[in-house]
Amino acid sequence: MAAGRARMPAPLFFLSSMRPKPPPNYLAGYPAHLVDAVHRLIADGSLGKALLQKYPAAHAVRTDKALYDYVQAMKGEYLRNAGQLSKVAYDSKLRVISQALGTHTAISRVQGGKLKAKREIRVATVFRETPPDFLRMIVVHELAHLREREHDKAFYQLCQHMAPDYFQLEFDLRAYLLYLDAGGPPLWGPPEIGLDVGPAD
Ligand SMILES: [Zn+2]
Repeated sequence: MAAGRARMPAPLFFLSSMRPKPPPNYLAGYPAHLVDAVHRLIADGSLGKALLQKYPAAHAVRTDKALYDYVQAMKGEYLRNAGQLSKVAYDSKLRVISQALGTHTAISRVQGGKLKAKREIRVATVFRETPPDFLRMIVVHELAHLREREHDKAFYQLCQHMAPDYFQLEFDLRAYLLYLDAGGPPLWGPPEIGLDVGPAD
């Protein structure tokens, strides 16, 4: 029996970059011509430049405290009566797409014999090094879930009320995630820890 190409053992350097699962389809549901355009820009190496032209700078909301203040300010502007948030934090364990661009949990906990709803907003850490518009988009998304649980028409209307450019921003963010997944370097700042690539001092 002939050994097929797929059965050949892969060299080690290749194994180290292999993924155990196929990556998520970041642009599922978008019109084909838009998806094709993003794939072309990634293939010819120009998506990063295009994103940097459109979004040149990173935001400065880099700590959980700063994120909490940022979310509270936006909530105060648009959803003053939506209930208190008990926690706002960046979360390195969130997977952006499979967990719906962040999470929006209403945790029920028993406290003194009573069930108490606890609202938390966690934002995937990839958003810590993004332009202000991407952070605004994800916070709008999570705030909208305080009122609307599902991703339905009422939900997206609320998103657009808070951010009229919501759909464009979510699409551009998804294009960026696809670019990162294809191996592109982060555009708005390298990770602060976990990499040791500089010259020894
Ligand atoms: Zn959602």
